[in-house]
Amino acid sequence: MAIAARKMSNSKRIALVAHDNKKKELIEWALYNKAGLAKHRLYGTGTTGTLLEEALGQSVRKFLSGPYGGDQQIGAHIAEGKIDILVFFWDPMEAQPHDPDIKALLRLAVAWNIPFACDRATADFLFTSPLLAQEYDILPPDYTPYIRHTDVPDPL
Ligand code: PGA
Repeated sequence: MAIAARKMSNSKRIALVAHDNKKKELIEWALYNKAGLAKHRLYGTGTTGTLLEEALGQSVRKFLSGPYGGDQQIGAHIAEGKIDILVFFWDPMEAQPHDPDIKALLRLAVAWNIPFACDRATADFLFTSPLLAQEYDILPPDYTPYIRHTDVPDPL
């Protein structure tokens, strides 16, 4: 199955998530980048999205809270080409009940070759990239070698 390239528009669809101990940091970062974020469409897990909406005064499409499936919902949107960038301040110091969901979300960000930042420094580099305000052809990796077995006739 060849996966077609797609074009990111100059207005990006950005998903933002922060674990509880990282929410303050994400809000501070978002306020610092308020003018820049206003040019894009924002998405977030339930609590993070609500806090961002209040802090920025900008509408945020909110999924479920992370532990209730919000990370999985964002992952599904990435797989469907509906999220362009992920900013995920996950907590390296505290175990999370939904750790498998977090791992799955990070895996899909790589699997679909989207830019993502998991700490403030990387988010700063990402948000000062000229590509943020430009159209960008995103090339998903070619997974054809992994799915050759689908060419084998069904023995039944
Ligand atoms: P929350 O979810 O924004 O609803 O707190 C974040 C997460 O834990 O993944």
